[in-house]
Amino acid sequence: MSALLPYGRQSVTDDDVAAVVAALRSDWLTTGPEVAAFEADLSGWAGGAGVATVSNGTAALHVAYAAAGVGPGDEVIVPPMTFVATASSAVALGARIVFADVEEETFTLDPAAVAAATTGRTKVVAAVDYAGHPADYDALRTALDGTDALLLADAAHSIGGTYRGRPVGTLADLTTFSFFPTKNLTTAEGGAVATTDPELLKRARRFRNIGLVRERDEQRWSDEGGWHQEVHTFGLNYRLPDVLCALGRSQLRRLGDFLARRAELVARYDAALADLPGVLTPGRRDWAAPAWHLYPIRVLDGRRREIYDRMRAAGIGVQVNYIPAHWHPAFADLGYRRGSCPVSEAFYAQQLSLPLYPGLRHADQDRVIDALATALRGASVRSAA
Ligand SMILES: *Cc1c(COP(=O)(O)O)cnc(C)c1O
Repeated sequence: MSALLPYGRQSVTDDDVAAVVAALRSDWLTTGPEVAAFEADLSGWAGGAGVATVSNGTAALHVAYAAAGVGPGDEVIVPPMTFVATASSAVALGARIVFADVEEETFTLDPAAVAAATTGRTKVVAAVDYAGHPADYDALRTALDGTDALLLADAAHSIGGTYRGRPVGTLADLTTFSFFPTKNLTTAEGGAVATTDPELLKRARRFRNIGLVRERDEQRWSDEGGWHQEVHTFGLNYRLPDVLCALGRSQLRRLGDFLARRAELVARYDAALADLPGVLTPGRRDWAAPAWHLYPIRVLDGRRREIYDRMRAAGIGVQVNYIPAHWHPAFADLGYRRGSCPVSEAFYAQQLSLPLYPGLRHADQDRVIDALATALRGASVRSAA
């Protein structure tokens, strides 16, 4: 029996390896020409937005919130149906998280819930393009009318997707990407912030680089000497090395192929599972062209845990994405309560991600489909006995 079929995995070719080796042999291991080149290539995928690469997707969120000026006393609105970093990276800056529920079908941030949660202290509203399906950005914008809040897109799942024909990267004031191995492209660890606002981009670049100001005309002590650099606001070292940017550039050349393959596998799942009793396939809006990162089904009749266990026992590495963020003990200890976001919580109780990645072969996908059908039959056979 082969190893567990994973729910996601990278696709690395000889070209990727060669790109990394070339960077290793160059004069630069970090902060060299590959960084600027990868940022330019990413900009091409992000509708021309300015891009700052960073060391991972969590760092991208931290940088984006810092660029937005998030600090103590500010509120940041986040959906619970996300990886906890969407929220915890704003907590790290002293913000208070306000969880707003998601919409049925897409399980992305609900504009009506945002309108109800917004206060004079709301600094950022962070939408998450869950599974690669863009949130409803025009409606979210409308919900923010009359406030100073910035809109952030956590696009860890959705690079290459579009909303009403507009590319992810241009839909919010700030957009963040992750290049973790399970995501739509990888640099091992890596991430990026995209924005069309030059001032936000400048602040993001500075926070990524310890807050150092190198531009002479902006320095307070500009006569200090040629070596001089100074810090005006504190930042961190979140730089993505040249070696990994070289991998990212090479991966990005295949992003179109990756997305096409993911879409093809999604269509195969949709067709095979449409009439399978006991599960629901993922919903979508006709205005979205998702960049499918996950294939999240809903398992009905309270059987998610049982089906998870049966699939795992059959060698299928299904996953659950995600436990509602406000259920994490760190939030529970701050007083966040279960029951506050019923759509997210009901979805979590049913959610199961099936394997989805470019290298998933049709034969393996068929094995997933058969295992799911068998698992679903398993219990009904047993209960009929
Ligand atoms: C993966 C992910 C992140 C964090 O990215 P890392 O690169 O793992 O730090 C943030 N938000 C979402 C929705 C993610 O899926």
